[in-house]
Amino acid sequence: EKNLQILRSSFANRGTAFTREERDKLGLRGLLPPREETIEDQAERCLVQFHSFGSNLEKYVFLNCLRDRNETLFYYLLTNNLELMMPIVYTPTVGEACQKFGNEFRFAQGMYFATQDRGEIRRMLDNWPNKDVDIIVVSDGSRILGLGDLGTNGMGIPVGKLQLYVAGAGFNPAKTLPVIIDAGTNTKKYLDDKFYLGEKHARIKDEEYYALMDEFLSAVYNKWPKVLVQFEDISNDHCFALLENYRNKYFCFNDDIQGTGSVILSGFINCIRAVQKPITEHRLVFLGAGSAGIGVADCIMTLFQEAGMSEEDARKCFWFVDSKGLITTTRGDELTRYKKAYARGDVAADKQLKSLADVVRSVKPTAIIGLSGIGGSFTQEVVEEMARLNEKPIVMALSNPTSNAECTAEQAYTWSQGRCIFASGSPFAPVQYNGKTLIPGQGNNMYIFPALGLGSVVVNARHITDGMVIAAAKSLASQVDDSEVIQGKIYPGLHRIRELSVTIAVAVAEKAYEEGMAQLPRPDNLEQAVRDFIYHPHYDQKKLD
Ligand code: NAP
Ligand code: MN
Repeated sequence: EKNLQILRSSFANRGTAFTREERDKLGLRGLLPPREETIEDQAERCLVQFHSFGSNLEKYVFLNCLRDRNETLFYYLLTNNLELMMPIVYTPTVGEACQKFGNEFRFAQGMYFATQDRGEIRRMLDNWPNKDVDIIVVSDGSRILGLGDLGTNGMGIPVGKLQLYVAGAGFNPAKTLPVIIDAGTNTKKYLDDKFYLGEKHARIKDEEYYALMDEFLSAVYNKWPKVLVQFEDISNDHCFALLENYRNKYFCFNDDIQGTGSVILSGFINCIRAVQKPITEHRLVFLGAGSAGIGVADCIMTLFQEAGMSEEDARKCFWFVDSKGLITTTRGDELTRYKKAYARGDVAADKQLKSLADVVRSVKPTAIIGLSGIGGSFTQEVVEEMARLNEKPIVMALSNPTSNAECTAEQAYTWSQGRCIFASGSPFAPVQYNGKTLIPGQGNNMYIFPALGLGSVVVNARHITDGMVIAAAKSLASQVDDSEVIQGKIYPGLHRIRELSVTIAVAVAEKAYEEGMAQLPRPDNLEQAVRDFIYHPHYDQKKLD
């Protein structure tokens, strides 16, 4: 039976790439078609199959099944076709896959811990078949992409994100663990759906929720003391508190807050290079004050402080607009602590500004940054005003998916006569304007999180510090040449991701040593240590023994 086990194990299986000698040795002769193929041959066929599917969801299912059949081949294909396949294994297709998770379910991946498991999580972790785990991505499914509370249907997110860690920075897939904490769901549709696979109850109360999370994390660190835990797609009511509770206790970060902060900081650094105006002369208006908006502002704050401003003065360069208008201390509502930090105290109670256009006219910002999830909210009026105020206005329309972008690339360029520096969260194609090709930047978290993970795991960092997050942003920014920046290109090409990741990881690791966070002795050659960690999807002999 061992031969069948090999063919059915996603780790060991090589399909038609088993050589004649291997087939002999493993009892596979006759169980495979005669021709021996290379992984390149196999990947070529898979690519044809991939393109043959009409819908993205079918492509998603195809890739997931391929991974279940032959993991090496899956990662070979993904790594070599990352730009093509990223929108399938991650946003936007993964969102649809999550919504239909109960219906599309074929086989389980990762681990689930539900309220019924309280008191037993440590024991359950021993059920995970792989001995070592380098990284865990955990979600409670409460805010999946922009799709809301999907409960356990959110599993596609930790699964997909970890695939990007492998493809983007070379984490070993056998040492990754996707996790869903099932704390219930408040989405009635799923509670009524007979195919829904989570516990069928409303989300548990805060006290119970934090106890469940706490048990999960202490169990994880008891079993794998060096593991990196990344929180993902957790709603605003819990994500900040979880990060605050655990960032100085464990080795963890939240990509929606810190990864986003870092990648947008990076883009903003290059916007400033493009505009050629010192940081202290910039004024930023944010639309949206959620986990992304606050995370980004906290990161950009450091630029002002590095330029010599006090925290208090730096905060005065920021204005936030949420669903109720400009956030002020005099607005007369209860603000969360995170909003309070940026609330303007200089607006009289009777002069409250409600619309973004009013805020832009009044504040005269150099940059508008959209993280509101509200498509079309950078109107023609707003962008034209920005273009009137600035030679090179900075317009970042970062909400995902594309339909939620605050404006399109074409709108931003057209309404600013081709002068704006534009970035978005979802990709936009280059725009032709007056005979010039304008290339929009994509502030994709993918530039940062795999490398932040890589650099910190390689040195066995104690914690992920702000310094490391900012070092990652600066390293990414520096990988775009002056000549490209001047043309308004603020992010490098994603096809270079693995090389970008190595450079960023080295910068993160350097910072970890500088801050005394690295727990491994410093290697002679840090870059080599980073490169040695990287998994390359090829069939190697070791796995067969
Ligand atoms: P969130 O926590 O739900 O925050 C949304 C914020 O937008 C809230 O502050 C909300 O106001 C505000 N808002 C809602 N409607 C508004 C309106 N009509 N006018 C002004 N503000 C409004 O969401 P998030 O996690 O921060 O994500 C926000 C968006 O950022 C999403 O679309 C996401 O795709 C995008 N994002 C992009 C990247 C990237 O580009 N790399 C990374 C992460 C997130 P209240 O506080 O009053 O409710
Ligand atoms: Mn996310």
